[in-house]
Amino acid sequence: MTEIIKTIRASFASIATFCSAAAQPSSAAAPPIRMAGDDAAALTGIAIHEVCEYIVKYGDRPDNLAGWLSTKGYGSVDADEIGFLSWYALKAWKGTKDWSGFQNAMSAPVTELEIQADRGPVRVTGHIDVSSVAAATALDWKSGYRTEVDVEPQMRIYAFLLSTKLPNVAPDTVITAAVVWLRDKTYQTWKWTVAEIQQWVDEMLAKLANEGDKFNAGDHCRYCPHYYSCPAQRAIVQSTIMSLANMTGEDDTAMATMAQIYPAVQNVERMVLAYRDRLRMAILKHGPILTGDGMAIILKESHRETIDALKSWETLASFFSDDVETIAGCMTVGKTKLLKAIADASPKGQKGKAKGKVMTELRTAGAISTATRTTLSFVREQEVVKETENDTGTDESATVAGQGAAREPSAEAASGENASD
Ligand code: SF4
Repeated sequence: MTEIIKTIRASFASIATFCSAAAQPSSAAAPPIRMAGDDAAALTGIAIHEVCEYIVKYGDRPDNLAGWLSTKGYGSVDADEIGFLSWYALKAWKGTKDWSGFQNAMSAPVTELEIQADRGPVRVTGHIDVSSVAAATALDWKSGYRTEVDVEPQMRIYAFLLSTKLPNVAPDTVITAAVVWLRDKTYQTWKWTVAEIQQWVDEMLAKLANEGDKFNAGDHCRYCPHYYSCPAQRAIVQSTIMSLANMTGEDDTAMATMAQIYPAVQNVERMVLAYRDRLRMAILKHGPILTGDGMAIILKESHRETIDALKSWETLASFFSDDVETIAGCMTVGKTKLLKAIADASPKGQKGKAKGKVMTELRTAGAISTATRTTLSFVREQEVVKETENDTGTDESATVAGQGAAREPSAEAASGENASD
């Protein structure tokens, strides 16, 4: 029997095609470091996967989604977000009037299937969200934003794992893999023969064996769980800080350097945020930390008062002698909260339309002002002219004003509101 000397998990396959060191658990020295917010995001991911599993088993979402989440121990997750994500899961599974959906393509579906298969001295493992042996199909729900890091390698691994479960499998047996991007409301599918998949897996494993612990830093690092403990990232951060410290002048060379190191500076900013997170968590856990020079770092509370519009109205009306314009001028309406309130007040299937209608009417009434902001952004050289003509972004997190706001853009933008329910 061949001795297993390495285990590769499907979820690491995509990042491993960019950086073989990322697939070697020992390579990044320290284990992945978790950040504040990671747990909340992970819980949302687990909760939505459980709702998706429910959809596959029962053909619909739980009746009272918020109550169901609560009884399942997901009371702290945002039920609206799960509602939004599961809305597309249901459509992708059951289909629409123009498309029959995955349900019809996957007979006898099995959920949450953990599979492992050995390929020479390597053990390949994976957890397939939905699989159908009869249809030779594997499906993966993704609750995060669709990323530039290709998920195809992960799906190839799932296809390989599923192929090991198929009866009467032959080299020309075709396996289908699908990814449903719940947040982006899109899906991707692939088809490979078993021979193609086995060849790909062998080539990938050979590449990993040849490259060993070779680090290859790039855009993909943003999605790597070893990011904060990766020696390659640390080296980049150190050299970037040196470049920042040595930056002088504004001649062409200095300007080009300034532009070139921008992605690396973004990494440094990310590291600084991670440092702040870790410092906060350490103080929360251990209390004030002494710096050794007579100082200490603590978490200091500060308070900001907010005034409730409804409860304050009578007092303000009395003070301003019912001058509604002055009172309204002191108030703003939060767009996110407003859209949520409209959605909550609208029947299922009508929420997007209701939000679009209200926003259109508010624009027509001149109740919406738009703040303009500029952001640093990478574009292709040929786009520079276009960008220069239109180099400001608009921030519509804006305000729905009380009175006298500037009249603003077209109604089309309003209908561009999230139309999902
Ligand atoms: S952070 Fe980047 S370079 Fe480091 S292990 Fe991950 S993918 Fe590789």
